[in-house]
Amino acid sequence: MYKYLSTKDGRYILSIDNHEEISAALADFCRKKGVRSGIVGGIAAISQATFRFLDPATKTYVDKTFDEQMEITCLAGNISTKDGEVYLHLHVTASRRDYTCVGGHLLTARVNGACELYVEDYGLDGVGRKFDPETGLNLYEF
Ligand code: FE
Repeated sequence: MYKYLSTKDGRYILSIDNHEEISAALADFCRKKGVRSGIVGGIAAISQATFRFLDPATKTYVDKTFDEQMEITCLAGNISTKDGEVYLHLHVTASRRDYTCVGGHLLTARVNGACELYVEDYGLDGVGRKFDPETGLNLYEF
């Protein structure tokens, strides 16, 4: 599913296998390594992805799936917990064959090539999330 290496200062280098789904693999890694707060970043080549946009006017999510080869030029996000479970908040920008970019919240993305991430574990267990009715977001709770 993935392989990883621990750095000397408590971070991880994570390589997610070809054809795996990035969010599921990353969440599995966090659960297995006990990472309950931290940051994640990286790059990847993908063949399919679903991004999410929150419309602040209606507080509803709009999801869009792209079935094409793209490069994730930047994946940036954080790791926390909600209701005791690992919660990933991931943003991405991905470039298409014609060099234009699309982006948004990353819900799912299928690796088609490579996915190279880093994970930095804050080592804290008190970085939670709570639904905020005003914004419609699951905001940090600490
Ligand atoms: Fe966000």
